Amino acid sequence: MSKRDYYQVLSVQKNATDEEIKKAYRRLAMKYHPDRNPDDKTAEEAFKEVKEAYEILSDAQKRAAYDQFGHAGVDPNLGARAGGGAGFGFDFGDFGDIFETVFGGSTGAGARRGGAGGGSRMYRGSDLRYDLSLSLEEAVGGTEVKIRIPTQVICKNCNGSGARPGTNAVTCQRCGGSGQIRMAQGFFSVQQTCPSCRGTGRTIPDPCPNCYGMGRIQDHKTLSVKVPAGVDTGDRIRLAGEGEAGLNGGPTGDLYVQINVREHPIFTREDNNLSCEVPINMVTAALGGELEVPTLDGRVVLKIPPETQTGKVFRIRGRGVRPVRGGSVGDLMCRVLVETPVSLTAKQKEILREFEKTLYNNTHTPKESSWLDSVKSFFEGISK
Ligand SMILES: [Zn+2]
Ligand SMILES: [Zn+2]
Repeated sequence: MSKRDYYQVLSVQKNATDEEIKKAYRRLAMKYHPDRNPDDKTAEEAFKEVKEAYEILSDAQKRAAYDQFGHAGVDPNLGARAGGGAGFGFDFGDFGDIFETVFGGSTGAGARRGGAGGGSRMYRGSDLRYDLSLSLEEAVGGTEVKIRIPTQVICKNCNGSGARPGTNAVTCQRCGGSGQIRMAQGFFSVQQTCPSCRGTGRTIPDPCPNCYGMGRIQDHKTLSVKVPAGVDTGDRIRLAGEGEAGLNGGPTGDLYVQINVREHPIFTREDNNLSCEVPINMVTAALGGELEVPTLDGRVVLKIPPETQTGKVFRIRGRGVRPVRGGSVGDLMCRVLVETPVSLTAKQKEILREFEKTLYNNTHTPKESSWLDSVKSFFEGISK
């Protein structure tokens, strides 16, 4: 009995997507499942065939090998099995597993067949978190960074099976593949994870020397992360499928890149606005003038009107941050600080003293005047 083409078995096109293959498999596995077709040899054979086809076509590497070399490319034991024996390491303990992992059910077929709903379970790989530190310019303008992350990757030597190439994992003898054993304790019987296979339902007699039977190895991978413009501290970028590899063919976890924006020497960010402090000398403050202030994308001229007081905030529209989730661009807030002159020469001091003599009736110092008025009424209030 020669094997049918795997694509034919699943009734899918050669160029079918992973999703199409999975759908076809679910549909056919449901149809031919032994629990739905008790004592039906034909259905059982069909079910085995479907399972085998799916095992190959759902694995990118195996599928590529099959596409290139046909059955010979994916089944090293093809010759020995061609007579139509049990075939493909298949046993009843595996039935339950299929229904659990693919359909998400926890009882039903698995519980009846496997006794405890066990089997070599798939485990989704862990999500990983990477803390990415960015300068304000990078966060506001967007950037692309390469990150190197430690991760568990599928062992290439054994393709993740954990077994030395050419050998296979076998059904655990102790638990019969269920991954669970029953322990009698007085009246009760307690179900426990099988210590021999640690719940996987399978043991590896000849472990892969590269990963010591784990199927995964610790490695690093370098990823290119596109950081969109406008991100801020606390934002996360999710890279689907870039987390840790799953176990027993389970899906890979995700990678979350956690953004942290470093402090900037000039600008601070608040929502979509940037703000900065701009020191000006007292002459510019008094007479007005123009000065250049930096923005994240070049310099702009800021007009200082005459009689500008310290602390005054000037808003430069549209020079803030373009928010990453859409919305209008923020503004740049320039807070003016009037600076008291230092290291004055004798001549400069002389000029200032001359200037001071020209101040009269406090009309040139509005704050000082109103402050003195307040102080005066304060003391009058006390003396009453
Ligand atoms: Zn390995
Ligand atoms: Zn076991």
